[in-house]
Amino acid sequence: MRVPQTQHRVEFENGVPRVWVDGFGDRFPEGLEVPRLLANGDSNTKTRKNVGYVSCGLSMSPHRSIGIGNVCTSASAGCVAGCLNDQGLASVFETIGYARKARTVLWYLERQWFLETLASDLERWQRKADRKGLELCARLNMFSDIQWERYGIPQGFPQVKFYDYTKHSKRAGELLPNYWVTFSRSETNHADCLNALKRGANVAVVFHDEGGKFVGNRSGRQRLPSSWRGFPVVDGDTTDLRFDDPRGKTRGRVVGLRLKAHDNATRAAIIESGFSVKVKR
Ligand code: SF4
Repeated sequence: MRVPQTQHRVEFENGVPRVWVDGFGDRFPEGLEVPRLLANGDSNTKTRKNVGYVSCGLSMSPHRSIGIGNVCTSASAGCVAGCLNDQGLASVFETIGYARKARTVLWYLERQWFLETLASDLERWQRKADRKGLELCARLNMFSDIQWERYGIPQGFPQVKFYDYTKHSKRAGELLPNYWVTFSRSETNHADCLNALKRGANVAVVFHDEGGKFVGNRSGRQRLPSSWRGFPVVDGDTTDLRFDDPRGKTRGRVVGLRLKAHDNATRAAIIESGFSVKVKR
């Protein structure tokens, strides 16, 4: 694996990595400690809706945002502009962004530590779920599109329900009995969306109503269409449990998501890019 030359640095102290992230000046703390990788799903705006499960997630820094590699190689310009990485709690608490950057550095510079720690974190979360008598679900690509099946992670935890969104067209659908992946539409992958739907995979599509008033908490007021390109639309905003979405054997479902943006300028840029689909009146 070739890693670009940067001044990012990792040092270990008693087995715990401390990470220096280059290029952010005073905006990144010196030697941030990263003892663990997975966060409680209840602490994330996306996954806190996962009622009935214990849920955990792995958040990294999307695309090429820290200049060390690309954690979502099939991203489009529109999805990078619309990525929710800096929205929700991350727009309030800077520490959330620090940890995402540090985890991304660790992914590239300390791969073995990363995979071992991810496995031990999953074991810890599984014990927590067992104590509560609930199933554990895990979303490992909160802001990335890493093919975890290539690293044996879902295979190593058959009792955990893994789920993700992806822009890699070949990953969409039931990758493994415990790994469900929803394909994600962008302005550049229209044919792949239709192919995925025709073979029974589900496809997430972002929709918007006209007008500029639907930012922040008001985004939930937008409508979803009942169908898109002849495929039924289900509301993907009521829960993040994508593996529980209706499935068709030969015809997939469209998982409708309302366009979320924290301000009018961002909303306008996302719409302009073609990433979001206008709901017809
Ligand atoms: S592929 Fe997903 S995580 Fe990556 S930039 Fe696009 S929306 Fe964000």
